[in-house]
Amino acid sequence: MIGILGGTFDPIHFGHLRPALEIAEALGLAELRLIPLNQAVHRPQPHATSHHRLAMVQAAIAGQPGFVADARELDRPGNSYSYDTLLSLRAELGPHRPLCLLLGSDAFAGFLTWHRPQEILDLAHLVVMTRPSPAPDWDTALEALHAERRVDDLAALAMRPAGRIYYQQVTQLEISATAIRARIAAGRSPRFLLPDAVIEIIEQAGLYRHSQDPNAPPAP
Ligand code: ATP
Repeated sequence: MIGILGGTFDPIHFGHLRPALEIAEALGLAELRLIPLNQAVHRPQPHATSHHRLAMVQAAIAGQPGFVADARELDRPGNSYSYDTLLSLRAELGPHRPLCLLLGSDAFAGFLTWHRPQEILDLAHLVVMTRPSPAPDWDTALEALHAERRVDDLAALAMRPAGRIYYQQVTQLEISATAIRARIAAGRSPRFLLPDAVIEIIEQAGLYRHSQDPNAPPAP
């Protein structure tokens, strides 16, 4: 099975990396692809450039077997739809290999508002990783999808290429990129929330020093 974790990665942090590793191990993934998005559809645009966000992902996963930085969304102009990404991965991998789209419980709560959610499930499984922040409530359509598609058995994922929803408990790390940016903008250290190699890039490029997130909580 191949796992995919998409995100803004603005910047990538241990709240992405640790759950991704735990899922890769629990599911026995042959490969985990981290795919930074180009243009966000459901949220504000990233602060750092594509170039820096990709460099941070590459630095974060250097030396981790099975983890791959995949730049396909950055190479594609316009909105980064997961549907398009999965189509291109399917074209490469063929119809039979199970593909698992990893997403946090907050992202799953909004899944039915994504572009072509039903078709996404024709292309991949969803693997939902628990996230400490309370997820928005599910509406009845998401409840129904969940009831229809959920499996608790790993073998049920491995035997099909797509179409099921699986939950994986992961270590709860209350880390968000928004809070990291706010901390840096306030002149505080983000150390131990993300890899040192990523911090080096942030410092060298002077990223996030002046970022103004209207929704950012005050840096603790
Ligand atoms: P921001 O704070 O800017 O919203 P973020 O930290 O949520 O950023 P993204 O790059 O948007 O990071 O997240 C990519 C994916 O990783 C999403 O599916 C998100 O739910 C998940 N994720 C991010 N942080 C965590 C965390 N601490 N624990 C579990 N999942 C996470």
